[in-house]
Amino acid sequence: SSSKHDKEKGVNVQVIVRCRPLNEDELRVHTPVVISCNEGRREVSALQNIANKQIDRTFLFDKVFGPASKQKDLYDLAVSPIVYEVLEGYNCTIFAYGQTGTGKTYTMEGGARKKSCTNEEITDLLAPEETPKFIDDKSKKPVALMEDGKGGVLVRGLEEEIVCTANEIYKILDKGSAKRRTAETLLNKQSSRSHSIFSITIHIKESTPEGEEMIKCGKLNLVDLAGSENISRSGAREGRAREAGEINKSLLTLGRVINTLVERSGHIPYRDSKLTRLLRDSLGGKTKTCIIATISPCIQSLEETLSTLDYAHRAK
Ligand code: ADP
Ligand code: MG
Repeated sequence: SSSKHDKEKGVNVQVIVRCRPLNEDELRVHTPVVISCNEGRREVSALQNIANKQIDRTFLFDKVFGPASKQKDLYDLAVSPIVYEVLEGYNCTIFAYGQTGTGKTYTMEGGARKKSCTNEEITDLLAPEETPKFIDDKSKKPVALMEDGKGGVLVRGLEEEIVCTANEIYKILDKGSAKRRTAETLLNKQSSRSHSIFSITIHIKESTPEGEEMIKCGKLNLVDLAGSENISRSGAREGRAREAGEINKSLLTLGRVINTLVERSGHIPYRDSKLTRLLRDSLGGKTKTCIIATISPCIQSLEETLSTLDYAHRAK
């Protein structure tokens, strides 16, 4: 993309790539690395010679973080400007997109913590009950997606907690994360096939010079998306077809919505998936969106990595 493109179109949607380091196992067996990151040039290159066929592709992004990057680097360079926007009253969303095992949860939750539900079902990870609540659970129906009549969407029955300090927020995030793991075990489902959304709404009381009180309201959504490998492959496999279909729908719709926002072209297909309906008030208009595409540097993941880079690049 040219700088003209950045200036005209990339203002409200930022696309970032983060490549994780090799893990201990990969280091031990000397796994070949096929990805190189040039942070200064904001480029990611995939280079590999397979059966005389040379793959050599370079992608340009808004920011690139190589394997040595730390959580603080991402926070300082990519996330803190977004937090500032939230404090100014914007609705902002940070997505982590990528193949399972590439660091989506690590990037979103900070690494220190250990690490969802599925598809197009909605589970309230903060609900006090032992069993997670599902939107599609006909017997209870406690959590439901509703239109709020103002173009937004509400999740009726969703737990909301009032907090005053950052520590209280971490506690809630930990509670949600623990619930996500319990839900996985209980329901025998993997986090790779679910999206998790953590929303923080901030109310700031301000006084005008005239002494009038004003309340500014901003929202930050942290979205740890289902593994992007679900998009293509699992769809064909028996039994997973419906679930993969729903994940396909939400990830593909998200890609289309973001693409339409970036291109500023025509109808935005929010309604095509629950994920985009749910995030509608935070996508488009007076909002900022950041997609962090996470990738592995290894040769074994090259095919998935290229499809992640293609998806992320299309969003730009
Ligand atoms: P995902 O959520 O995409 O499936 P995870 O966040 O669970 O992937 O990461 C997979 C493993 O790799 C975890 O053990 C995690 O701690 C490690 N990891 C991921 N990204 C990084 C990173 N940037 N630096 C160090 N370790 C990482
Ligand atoms: Mg994860």
